Parts: sequence; structure tokens; C-alpha cells
Amino acid sequence: MDHTTRRYNGPPGQEDMPYLLTPGPLTTSQGVKAAMLADWGSRDVEFRKVVADIRNGLLAMAGADETYECVIMQGSGTFAIEAALGAFCPSGEAKTLVVANGAYGDRAAKILEKIGRPVVKIDKGDSAAPTPEEVGAALDADPAITHVWVIHCETTSGIVNPVTDIASVVRGRGRRFMVDAMSSFGALPLDMRDGLDVMVSSSNKCIEGVPGFSYVLVKRHMLEMSKGRSHSVVLDLYEQWKGLEANGQFRFTPPTHALVAFHQAMKEHAAEGGVEARGNRYARNADLLVKGMRDIGFSTLLNDNEAGPIIQTFLTPRDPNFDFEHFYESLRMRGFAIYPGKLTKRPSFRIGTIGKVDETVMNGVLAAIRAVLGEMNVTDLSPLGA
Ligand SMILES: *Cc1c(COP(=O)(O)O)cnc(C)c1O
Repeated sequence: MDHTTRRYNGPPGQEDMPYLLTPGPLTTSQGVKAAMLADWGSRDVEFRKVVADIRNGLLAMAGADETYECVIMQGSGTFAIEAALGAFCPSGEAKTLVVANGAYGDRAAKILEKIGRPVVKIDKGDSAAPTPEEVGAALDADPAITHVWVIHCETTSGIVNPVTDIASVVRGRGRRFMVDAMSSFGALPLDMRDGLDVMVSSSNKCIEGVPGFSYVLVKRHMLEMSKGRSHSVVLDLYEQWKGLEANGQFRFTPPTHALVAFHQAMKEHAAEGGVEARGNRYARNADLLVKGMRDIGFSTLLNDNEAGPIIQTFLTPRDPNFDFEHFYESLRMRGFAIYPGKLTKRPSFRIGTIGKVDETVMNGVLAAIRAVLGEMNVTDLSPLGA
């Protein structure tokens, strides 16, 4: 295989870097990468303006009115999740309901257990969506539940949960509604005014920045009431907010390069046409990929009406010649990094359809997959265990 002469996606001198067909870190534009070539001082006026712009821009993108605040937290997405759970979820008699249908729901419940906040779970396994009715029934059965945590796109399978419908059930019963929109925000429509009290996302997903920070959008009065409630010093969302409000600065070293890259990514997001255009490009990627994979003979885990445009899960073929490690490495050598499966039940792998990638990249990965299957002599693509 003559991968040494191939040119993929990197900047000058690193042209053989692969496209990242993963849910983050993901492929970013040359403009986003170039924004990181300068060293910014964290106390400079210009940098503080970048931070303020990002906070305001995120609120605007989420349709949040002046009753909401945006707090940026250093670290990957899970850092903001733990910060939000620690700030807002009750201790004592009251409980948080986690609606889980994959690894990210399980992780939120694990964090709550670890920090000693009472948690109950609706567990849908890893490929079924929760319904508003079952969430409503769980709330009616247990008045001690005061907060509900739901994942928008469960990146474990790529399924998109009906958050807006669940929001009205939760808010209609006077409970607090919190959403992990990590892998959807910026590409799937989401409006805080539809009943979201809290929303969490990060820099390296659909807005196409680089890893380094995450953020929480929240009703200001909830933030005010959270003073002193955090289990942590570094993840204390209230103190982080107070710091940002006081002088526009972070309490501890901010990821300056990741923030200026994200600022550029937000400009490119707007230039592309905002959430709608971004979501449409990802949907075109997903349609092309799924159709191509089915033409080859692969099956998807999810039905088309459940699968979002973020990441696609394919069932591992039963052909004994199929070896995932070889498949992965050979695609990597051809310029495409895919994603192993994370499902507990069915053997599978995933291919992300987000990031600065388009039809050309999707056609490229499909051609590479055909070639690698030929190389491995795989002919029976019907799913393992079916
Ligand atoms: C990416 C992601 C997270 C956060 O994961 P990190 O590895 O901490 O960035 C949380 N929830 C969902 C649904 C995600 O896709």
C-alpha cells in the first residue's frame, strides 16, 4: 500500500495526518489551526474580549435570553458535566434522575454517586431512546426527584433523544431539566427557552474547535443559588463564574490557544450559515456514508429515524476474515481514523460524520473501506450474532 505518497489533511510538513472520523477531537479547518500560532496573554484586554465574545456567542447560539449565563470551564466535556452536577444536583433527601441510554448517561450517574448526590436511573440499554411518557411516569412515581439529566445525542450509538418533548414533561411537573448536548450543540437545533435550565457542551465537537475547555449555560438564579455547593475547588462553577464576571479572567491558567481557536471556529460556524447549515452538512455526510456502507453490505445498529447525523454505528461483519484491528490500522494508513465500538451488547464500530469534513472525505473513506475489505478478503458482511 503506497500510503507514503498520499496527502491528507495536515498543515505543511504534516500532510499525512488523517481525517478524524471520531466524535472529538475531530478534524478542524486550517483557519482554526492557524489561530493557534500566536501566544496570547491571559490578562490582555484582547484576550478577555475573546472570552467575552465566546460567552455571548454561545448564549446567542442557544437562544438563551438575559436570564441565562455562560460559564466556561477548563478541561474536556466531562469536567463541565461534573462541575454542573456538583453545582446544581441536590444532596440529602432530594434526588436526580439520570435518563441513560449509553456510556455518557452511565458516566453522569457514576459522577453523582461519587460525589454523594442521590441518583436514580432510567436505563434504556445502549440503543433505545427514552420516551417523554416514561420520564413523566418516573417523576410521578417519585416526588423526591427534583432534577433530571438527559443526553441529547448519545454518542455511544449516535441516537438522538427527544429532549424538547422530555423538557416539557419535566418542566410541566416543576422539576429542573439539565441536558448534556456535548455532541449535538451547534449542529442540531436546541433552544434554552424550550425548558432547559442547564446545558453543557465542549470546544471540540460540532463547533469544530480543539479540545481544552467545556461550558455550561444555566439560568442565572440557579447559578446564584449554587454558591458553596460544589464538591470541588477547581470545578466550582459558581466561583468560576464570579471570577469571569469580576475581571473577565479565569481563576486558573486558561487554555488560551484553545479559546482563540474556538473564537475562530465560531466565526466559521456563522459564515457557514449557523446551526442549520452545519447540521445540513453533517446530515449529507451521514446519508452518503450510510448509503455507501449499506451498498457494501454493512448493517447499521439504528434505524434511520433514530440515527442522528453525528456518528454512525455499524455492526461488525460475521466473516471470520474481518479483523477490526487490521481494518482500523489499514484505514488509518489510508488517511482515515475511525472509532471503535463502545456498545456493551453488539460488536460494532463507529464512524463520525462531524468535523471539517464533507462529501469528498466520505467518498474517500468509502473507497478506502472497499479496498481494505478486499485486502482482508472479507465477503460476508452480515452482522455477527444476527
Ligand atoms: C464527548 C462527550 C462527552 C464528554 O467527553 P469528554 O471525553 O470529557 O470530552 C460527554 N457527553 C457526550 C454525549 C459526548 O459526546
